[in-house]
Amino acid sequence: CGIVGYVGHRDALDVVLGGLRRMEYRGYDSAGVAVLDGAGGLTVERKAGRLANLEGALDEVGRSRFAGRSGMGHTRWATHGPPVDRNSHPHRDAAERVAVVHNGIIENFAQLRAELEANGVELESDTDTETAAHLIARAYDKDPDTAGDLPASVRAVCRRLEGAFTLVVTHADHPDLIVAARRSSPLVVGVGEGETFVASDVAAFIEHTREAVELGQDQLVTITREGYEVSDFHGELAQGKPFTVDWDL
Ligand code: GLU
Repeated sequence: CGIVGYVGHRDALDVVLGGLRRMEYRGYDSAGVAVLDGAGGLTVERKAGRLANLEGALDEVGRSRFAGRSGMGHTRWATHGPPVDRNSHPHRDAAERVAVVHNGIIENFAQLRAELEANGVELESDTDTETAAHLIARAYDKDPDTAGDLPASVRAVCRRLEGAFTLVVTHADHPDLIVAARRSSPLVVGVGEGETFVASDVAAFIEHTREAVELGQDQLVTITREGYEVSDFHGELAQGKPFTVDWDL
């Protein structure tokens, strides 16, 4: 029920956990994080239950394993599959190079799942979300139209998804880039100095910046340390709607 993504100069795990804490009021049943270490490593931890359970798990494996300047976090309100660790986000492809967090529902997931299974992909969760992780990895690895191009791979998959979604996607090969997309589900960018955020709610980044950009329907945004770029699901450049958050903390 909350999503946050970060690329910048701070410790990504700190920023992401802080963002998830600020969205706790929305309610959730599981939580998870992914951090990119900048050297090709993508590390994920996820847990059913409160954020405190996730933090306990992070302490157990050692937070030093989650050092990095980009990452993302998720709080889940289960719609497809019970709230257990295995169904918690982020979800990854089989090679564990792509990670995806999602709020919403992918209505045609049964058909997508059947297609993946027919292609020999084994799914490890009951979620609709996991199908998106495998489809993006296949577009990135195998489809000549989108191979090696993460934003193009995410666009191609978004065009196939039905329903409501906010998706945030990372790839181990691209620690300086996060891709996010939305349809009928909220997504805002937070623009800082040498750091950029994406979130389902400005609460996630308000501690760090008040300069925000709201995305329109069926738009995708790529964020880097230097800024952001908005496009539609066909790759045409588009404009978000800039605004300044004026609430008191
Ligand atoms: N449909 C997804 C799931 O059940 C995402 C739910 C959410 O919005 O948190 O895992």
